[in-house]
Amino acid sequence: MDKLTTIYNFKIRITIDVNNLLLTPIEYLKGVGPKRADTLKQEAGIYTYWDLLNFFPFRYIDRSKFILIESITETDNAVQINGRIKSIQEVGAKRAKRLVAIIEDSIGQIELVWFKGIKWVKPTLQIGAKYIVFGKPTKFGRKYNIAHPDLEKVESNKPLIGGLQPVYHSGDKLSNKGLNSKGLENIIKNLLPQIEGLIQENLSPELLSKFNLISKAKALLQVHKPLDFYEVRSAQMRLKFEELFFLQLLLVKQKQIAQRKSRGHVFKVVGDLFNAFYNEHLPFELTGAQKKVLKEIRGDLRSGIQMNRLLQGDVGSGKTLVAFFTLLMAIDNGFQTALMAPTEILAKQHFQTIKEFVEKLPIEVSLLTGSTKVAERRIIHERLENGALHLLIGTHALLEDKVKFKNLGLSVIDEQHRFGVAQRAKLWRKNKIPPHILVMTATPIPRTLAMTFYGDLDVSVIDELPPGRKQVVTQHRFDSARLTVFGFIEQEIKKGGQVYIVYPLIQESEKLDYKDLMDGYESITRRFPKPAYQVSIVHGKMKPADKEMEMQRFVSGISQIMVATTVIEVGVNIPNASIMVIESAEKFGLSQLHQLRGRVGRGADQSYCILMTSYKLTEDAKKRLDTMVRTNDGFEIAEVDLKLRGPGDIMGTQQSGLLDLKIADLAKDGQLLQYARNAAFDLVSEDPDLKNPENVRIRQELVNIVRNRPNWSRIS
Ligand code: ADP
Ligand code: MG
Repeated sequence: MDKLTTIYNFKIRITIDVNNLLLTPIEYLKGVGPKRADTLKQEAGIYTYWDLLNFFPFRYIDRSKFILIESITETDNAVQINGRIKSIQEVGAKRAKRLVAIIEDSIGQIELVWFKGIKWVKPTLQIGAKYIVFGKPTKFGRKYNIAHPDLEKVESNKPLIGGLQPVYHSGDKLSNKGLNSKGLENIIKNLLPQIEGLIQENLSPELLSKFNLISKAKALLQVHKPLDFYEVRSAQMRLKFEELFFLQLLLVKQKQIAQRKSRGHVFKVVGDLFNAFYNEHLPFELTGAQKKVLKEIRGDLRSGIQMNRLLQGDVGSGKTLVAFFTLLMAIDNGFQTALMAPTEILAKQHFQTIKEFVEKLPIEVSLLTGSTKVAERRIIHERLENGALHLLIGTHALLEDKVKFKNLGLSVIDEQHRFGVAQRAKLWRKNKIPPHILVMTATPIPRTLAMTFYGDLDVSVIDELPPGRKQVVTQHRFDSARLTVFGFIEQEIKKGGQVYIVYPLIQESEKLDYKDLMDGYESITRRFPKPAYQVSIVHGKMKPADKEMEMQRFVSGISQIMVATTVIEVGVNIPNASIMVIESAEKFGLSQLHQLRGRVGRGADQSYCILMTSYKLTEDAKKRLDTMVRTNDGFEIAEVDLKLRGPGDIMGTQQSGLLDLKIADLAKDGQLLQYARNAAFDLVSEDPDLKNPENVRIRQELVNIVRNRPNWSRIS
């Protein structure tokens, strides 16, 4: 943290004013006390008045709007009703036990159901008492019910008015101490009158007026105690903007620091190799998107600052070719280069592709992987150090300390997802002046996530496929149609095609999945018997050498069918494969389905992706399948995925520090994020060290954030 403070050149000393009321320990607040305070600390991370003030409601109940139970329809997302509880009953035994309460208003009635926490809920229900119920109705047969509704008892004589009521996340432990949403609302109401005049602004007047934001003081009051939805929106807008702005500002500052520190090699010329390959050996024209990206890269490479660029593009969009041109630029300027892939198979494929490319060019290329023999390794090490080797392709093996370059100028990393940030950094250190870095990923990342997770990288997107590519036809079939699907497979094989049949492998039920895979394999070999057919199989329990052999049998066309678990997901290129059958497709995530589909459609023939499922599908699964059938656009799919799963699940918890957002939502606030990012860029370009008086608050806040949220300073 201190390091950051110094490199940021911040000379501010934050003095924490012990008299500052906002930092008072939470136990001193009226209505809290030591016991509740302990729970607030453990369960919600609320230690001080300030923390409580920053514990925001996640929704508001409009106390003025109710609907009649009778008028509930299937399209209702969530409804608010009020009525009296007529009966309470526990139904079912043990595991299947549920609590059912019937609530009725003037003309209708509906069931409220709980499957969990029955022990906590039951005592809060009282027959004959009046409740406000909020929840999502679901239809069963001709009746509706609401599972796990929000429930609030209404004092018998009070009229049901009073604007908006905030709803806070609580939990069993908090509720037990009387701190359910209502309880939290009460203690916050005790705090609000005390904070007047204490809340300092942390944005500049310029930003406030440019984005039409209300003051921080006002926003904090309004978010907890809004009069109407207009106040909710203006408070949320202000607080979300602030949160996203500081997140982006931090990333922009990090980028600035990296650039100040990292001189980069200057690649002056475009060069002979580049031109020779472009003019003489390239059998087709580059797409507009490829040209655009190459220009962006070219700009970086001549700038004198180290390039850190992420290249995004759907499978088959021609990233490898762009990477190859970039490698040529480096070699043309007298530098060595490296290309790193996440698996041995992929490294080999790159090696083969590039060897064909360079056949007629004076470029020395080698392959280094875990299985490279010692003698060969020694030669490679030597040729790297004396500069004879121009390009080294390989796996993680490239990162070993023994691998030393004479003058590494550029590293290309394929499939970023498999490599951590730390590994990226390791490649940097392979030269005194760090090499330029180009990261390629075929997993389209929604724009909002790219701006956050790769906020310190520049991003290039290839958003156009080479011409003449046939779209993969995607269909959803139920298991009952398997015989028809087999018939279709047979036809394709007769025409010379090859087929993937993929089974899920999910950690928790590994045994079951393995059984499914083996059962499937058996029925396929029965349907497609030797000698007319050969079926390969690859799964996680096999030895690497056996996997490799089976893969090779398929690659060389000896086997027509490849039965596999998701190990084939990444990068494998077999142009002859024209059918991808995905078994239990409902078990796969969207981006995984899309990746798998990308394994076909690489040749000239029409390709097909068939998603097999049972009849039992959740709403989410249906959405995933529909999306796959509807579109081939990886970015569109990524956006749907983000909405379905949320950012944490997409990027993995590893980097979740970035997702500790209190109020903004990366799945929903994309537009605001873009504004915040632009504002951060503008600010840093106008006032790089945030020294202008009007920016002093911003600078102070940034230092605070880095101190209080150390995980933010560790990103990238
Ligand atoms: P990616 O790495 O993005 O999956 P590749 O670079 O491997 O894509 O390209 C996929 C295929 O498309 C390769 O066979 C490549 O030769 C071909 N290709 C790349 N760019 C073009 C282009 N502009 N026109 C025609 N074919 C292209
Ligand atoms: Mg590729």
